[in-house]
Amino acid sequence: MAAPSKAQLLNEVYTLLKKRYKLEPRSERLTVLEAVVYGICHEGTTREQAEQALSRFRDQFFDWNEVRVSSIEEIRDTLAGQPDSEERANRLRRFLRQLFEKTYGFALDGLSKKPLKESIKSLQEYEAMGGDYVLATVIQQALGGHAMPVDEPILRGLRRLGVIDEGADAASVRSLLERAVPKNRGVEFVDLMEELTHDTCVAGPPDCFRCELKKICPTGQARLTSEKAAAKVAAKDAAKASKAPLAAPLPPPPPPPPAKSGPTKATTARATPAPQAAVPPTPPKNVAPTKSAPAKSNSSKPATPESAPQLKKTAAPPNEKSGKPPKGRSTR
Ligand code: SF4
Repeated sequence: MAAPSKAQLLNEVYTLLKKRYKLEPRSERLTVLEAVVYGICHEGTTREQAEQALSRFRDQFFDWNEVRVSSIEEIRDTLAGQPDSEERANRLRRFLRQLFEKTYGFALDGLSKKPLKESIKSLQEYEAMGGDYVLATVIQQALGGHAMPVDEPILRGLRRLGVIDEGADAASVRSLLERAVPKNRGVEFVDLMEELTHDTCVAGPPDCFRCELKKICPTGQARLTSEKAAAKVAAKDAAKASKAPLAAPLPPPPPPPPAKSGPTKATTARATPAPQAAVPPTPPKNVAPTKSAPAKSNSSKPATPESAPQLKKTAAPPNEKSGKPPKGRSTR
């Protein structure tokens, strides 16, 4: 079966994301100047963050001239919570200064009455439009043209979905999207992609299990396959471990040493057993002591099973009748 075209793939992405995310309706169209500020605040962030920042500028400053003459710290504070707030503050103030130097005011709305190409040409004179994102935002949000602002999160999502190649730049991707997505879906498509890339398809490991697009996304498929394989291996290992024989029981601990009634020194010393005093074995009552059983060997060596019979032999009683010792045995 032939691979779906980019337009078909993007249409499928749009349909699935529309089922997943419920978008807030957009308010009325922005003025050109507001769209520039909104674009600066929106690149790499969410629609909600950008709307809040724009709202704070409206509430906290008397007009755009006050923002122009404010310090970077004051503008940065208004952008609180946004990544790279200082860089955005600088960019915004440079734009307002450039606008003021060109027009001696802050009126850009005349551009919305001009042909789109002419308006774009005028806007491109401003440094803030250097990145394609802000210009595309102004065209989409203020001039009524068909433009698809593409920032890093959207590039990331489209790369993972296999819509664009690894090295594709924002301008070429924007042009691809503007050809493949119809104008009446343009704003919605970008908003849905933004929801996706700030929900599951985030920077770092994406949360493909929760993603609505996992059935059509090659990255999601690859991740799910490898995670399933890893889960199988883990389950096999767990099963093997549960079948393995139990470890042999430990031998019982040795009995505690008998309580000693020796000198108190032995009790305070380390657990080294005190040397036992050599006690000569007590001869049996019916065995007479003989010279052949020297006391030395008895005291230095403990009586062993082998030596015990010898003692009996050497200590055999004399013949009861004769009173003499048995023949062949020395009594000495
Ligand atoms: S399946 Fe995963 S990689 Fe693909 S779009 Fe969803 S979150 Fe991103």
